[in-house]
Amino acid sequence: MKSPFSLDRQNQKVESKIVVALERIAEAFRVLLWLESKENALSPIQIQILIFLLFHSDEKCKVSYLSQEFNMTKATISDSVKLLLQKGLIQKFNNPIDTRSYIIGLTPAGKQTAEKSANFAFAIEKPLFTLSNEQKEIILSSLLNLIHELHKANIITIQRMCFTCVNYQHDEGQHYCKLLQSQLQNTELRIDCAEHELIPA
Ligand code: SF4
Repeated sequence: MKSPFSLDRQNQKVESKIVVALERIAEAFRVLLWLESKENALSPIQIQILIFLLFHSDEKCKVSYLSQEFNMTKATISDSVKLLLQKGLIQKFNNPIDTRSYIIGLTPAGKQTAEKSANFAFAIEKPLFTLSNEQKEIILSSLLNLIHELHKANIITIQRMCFTCVNYQHDEGQHYCKLLQSQLQNTELRIDCAEHELIPA
């Protein structure tokens, strides 16, 4: 059996164990997000939209961008946006660059909910504080490489990480950001950078 979920394969292949471990962590995210959404009488995607709006700039706060970010159809995102508007948690603004679309922003009530809900993954972050710097660096590098490979395989769509940015340079094992004009240590590589500019296809 080639499935990483096969127990025999897991006993033979560390790669399969890692896949199953990542699946367990994904499940923990799903459970924590579900608990947070239940507490706020919202759906998980509605909570995710509120948190995204809290931390990202206006040009990304549009239905089309959100649909790519969360791998959902525009219709599904539009439905969630409508409900969040009805609940008074978000508001619409005209898009000065494109009159056919609009920008979504948080209302004061939405900001309050987003700020509280943004802590939903703290239970996953907490045990990471107990690891050594070396362990954290290895985990981060491994995850960045894995995400980059999944992006190249079109499994993860939107990426705002250094490896996919026009400003990123890699030379003789050194990472460099042309925009910041600075070398980046392994732990300084960004996973969600506000200044990220995607390398054209
Ligand atoms: S602009 Fe941001 S994502 Fe791009 S290389 Fe610099 S730090 Fe990384």
